[in-house]
Amino acid sequence: MRIPLLLVRGRAQRAPSADKPRRTRHLLRFLPSPRFRNPLPHPARVAVLTQRCSGRNLRIFQSTESLAIGAYRPEILAAPLSMLRELSESVSVSKALVVFTDRCSSPLTQATRDWLWQRFAVPCFEQLLDASGQVIAEECQVHDGLHVLRMDATSGTLTTAECDCGRTEPRLK
Ligand SMILES: [Zn+2]
Repeated sequence: MRIPLLLVRGRAQRAPSADKPRRTRHLLRFLPSPRFRNPLPHPARVAVLTQRCSGRNLRIFQSTESLAIGAYRPEILAAPLSMLRELSESVSVSKALVVFTDRCSSPLTQATRDWLWQRFAVPCFEQLLDASGQVIAEECQVHDGLHVLRMDATSGTLTTAECDCGRTEPRLK
């Protein structure tokens, strides 16, 4: 028997009423964009490159739109590393970078972080995404590993020591 599912905040859950399959099928077609996770402790104006996501004060750009991104004056620029490299000469950002990685792209090396700092002069926060763009693990302001949000989607070495930021999720290091 197929169990009808509802999507609540991007997660599939069993529908409270299993006797309305037509309505459930309709809801399943309407997949919401993943919410952007702001790594800063305050709201910010966010430019996201190509990734499908949503949030307040957030706009999505293509990597070819450097002029439009500049005019938007992003406080956070969020993109895969390859696109940050493409834009490094033409776009500036005032508060932070979010670097999207996935299982196929290597985690950020110290050399890459140093290069990002030299070019953009703002802290960078790695966010590991799954294929649908949901954040699996994310870096906090302590920059000591990635807090794991979804254990089922994670592989690698984990530490369970509490982070200095106060969060208690295991971290990928
Ligand atoms: Zn932390």
